[in-house]
Amino acid sequence: ANFMRVVVHDVAGSEKSNSGVELLCVVRAVLKKIRRRVLVGDKVLVGSIDWIDRRGMIENVFHRRSEILDPPVANVDHLLLLFSLDQPKLEPFTLTRFLVEAESTGIPLTLALNKCELITEEELESWKIRLRRWNYEPFFCSVGTKEGLDAIAFILQNQTSVIVGPSGVGKSSLINILRSNSGHAIEEENWFEPILGNKFFEDQRVGEVSSRSGRGKHTTRNVSLLALSEGGYLADTPGFNQPSLLKVTKQSLAFCFPEIRKMTEEENCGFKNCLHIGEPGCVVKGDWERYPYYLQLLDEIRIREEFQ
Ligand code: GDP
Ligand code: ZN
Repeated sequence: ANFMRVVVHDVAGSEKSNSGVELLCVVRAVLKKIRRRVLVGDKVLVGSIDWIDRRGMIENVFHRRSEILDPPVANVDHLLLLFSLDQPKLEPFTLTRFLVEAESTGIPLTLALNKCELITEEELESWKIRLRRWNYEPFFCSVGTKEGLDAIAFILQNQTSVIVGPSGVGKSSLINILRSNSGHAIEEENWFEPILGNKFFEDQRVGEVSSRSGRGKHTTRNVSLLALSEGGYLADTPGFNQPSLLKVTKQSLAFCFPEIRKMTEEENCGFKNCLHIGEPGCVVKGDWERYPYYLQLLDEIRIREEFQ
């Protein structure tokens, strides 16, 4: 069974003291029938509540302000893209893939570069300059020495963030530090059959216990929201480290590169739907570092679109 942990926000009636309580909920069958999937981060209506055993049933899902699919999280305000400067080395093309995937969601993103104690001042400075040319201002940090972590904790405040990045860069380590600072980690429990009870209006923040990848394989990847002590939530997303770029089209790819956005803002391209590959009147020249990456990704997307 699919249980979701739901944090109670607004309670209708006399049960105000239950605000903040976590309920273990099943999803009403009719929602599944109409393929209304409940995502982590969804705001939901809960009924059939048993306050003693802390059980309930998700009866409906409120309108989503945003939604990302990989990892599946709703109402995301912010993406925290974490990479390491060394071990594993920062690889510009991999970083570009993640940046493009993140940009394609339209959700504000922060780039943080971890393990900064492993490189020299000069190397760090040269990354700073290089990434500034990509139009990014990264945060430098070290989960190991705790350098730069306050700044990251500060941007995570009072919003729902998802942390993404390749494996080995320090995502779990960062989450663990934030978790130990927070009094409200959401832990796994043993599940029991829910017991039906009274009906109340609820609100939520959800930690989904199990979800299918949706790719026909029976792999279960877990997503949960960690409540941060300073307010806000961080989605813990183990295993989501392969940007698929499935939502990116040939036309939208250019918008995922801030360099191109800047060039086309300053001066319009000769004609609409320009792919910036040497069309007459195109203002995007090939004289910037990531242009070859742009062409490579464009090719990848073109091939995918042709075979669809
Ligand atoms: P994840 O795969 O992104 O979740 O990465 P982990 O959190 O599992 O970290 C991978 C390895 O990097 C672990 O051995 C961590 O101890 C180490 N690590 C994490 N942060 C730092 C750091 O700031 N400096 C150094 N030197 N190692 C770190
Ligand atoms: Zn163009």
